[in-house]
Amino acid sequence: MSQDIEHVKCLIIGSGPAGYTAAIYASRADLHPVMYTGMLAGGQLTQTTDVENFPGYPDGIMGPEMMEDFRKQAERLGTDIRFGYVSSVDFTSLPHKVVVDESKTILADTVIISTGASAKWLGLESEQKYSGFGVSACAVCDGFFFKGQDVAIVGAGDTAAEEATYLAKLARKVYMIVRRDEFRASKAMVHRVLNTPNIEILYNTETLEILGDGQSVNAVKVLNNETQVERILDVTGFFVAIGHKPNTDIFRGFINMDETGYIVTRPGSTETNVEGVFCCGDAQDHIYRQAVTAAGTGCMAAIDAERYLAAKEHVVTA
Ligand code: NDP
Repeated sequence: MSQDIEHVKCLIIGSGPAGYTAAIYASRADLHPVMYTGMLAGGQLTQTTDVENFPGYPDGIMGPEMMEDFRKQAERLGTDIRFGYVSSVDFTSLPHKVVVDESKTILADTVIISTGASAKWLGLESEQKYSGFGVSACAVCDGFFFKGQDVAIVGAGDTAAEEATYLAKLARKVYMIVRRDEFRASKAMVHRVLNTPNIEILYNTETLEILGDGQSVNAVKVLNNETQVERILDVTGFFVAIGHKPNTDIFRGFINMDETGYIVTRPGSTETNVEGVFCCGDAQDHIYRQAVTAAGTGCMAAIDAERYLAAKEHVVTA
């Protein structure tokens, strides 16, 4: 075990909207928070382009710039922001032990988990090339940019079904690319898709390549895996909705999670089943997954941590 040990009141793991908002509130509550950013400092929003749905930016803002604003605000208020990733944790005794970069041990009175989630991608080179330039993993975030245009969405679960119907209200036409001959989504969601006239479902279909002019998407090449017939879909937007993976592997075995790995919090709170450990943002939310909801739960986590510490102090000094 490393000799590099530090004791902190409040440790924040992860630096998306949830983590930074927790940092802002924890700083102002004099918890002297220390934040480890993780490998993707700023989180998922650093991989998007325009953000138009975060209140307070009347002209919209680029995702990376917005996260830089969050960082500056947290830093100005006193958060000690460090680049580093948490390699392991031990939540079996108090204070909690958290190892950073496999070398430094932090003993934390409270831990706020805001490690987020990662969208699953198909793994195509062209998908990466046009990410943010026609390719998106969030219809609610980016659908607006494709008003009146033709788009495609890949996936057949509840998320894909929900996002396809959302897109259908904005786009002229939505192609839904389903790799098997049936949906995984619930019957009610499938029913909604089937009853939306401007959604065309392409069953037994796989995406081969996203095509573009080097700047943005203008088509998608798909293959019917039964007939082996290829087809070009003229679309300007390509949405990937094949699931998300919460970034919670390091907490496995120490904290309650659902079967997908989302951390379970007490309803209406950010409390987990572990005393002094709170969770906010996409690591515990598979439903909303928005920057603004993540920020909201980040605020809740800092308040929950502050109240937890205050209650403990009260018991000790009373
Ligand atoms: P799911 O894991 O349920 O579905 C993923 C879908 O993507 C599947 O249809 C799968 O196909 C498809 N897929 C996976 N990999 C590929 C690939 N490489 N190429 C093409 N297709 C692929 O994820 P969701 O995000 O849809 O849902 C996650 C959880 O959240 C579920 O429990 C869901 O019920 C829940 N949810 C609930 C909602 C609600 O109640 N309103 C809304 C959204 C989500 P295949 O079926 O062939 O495996």
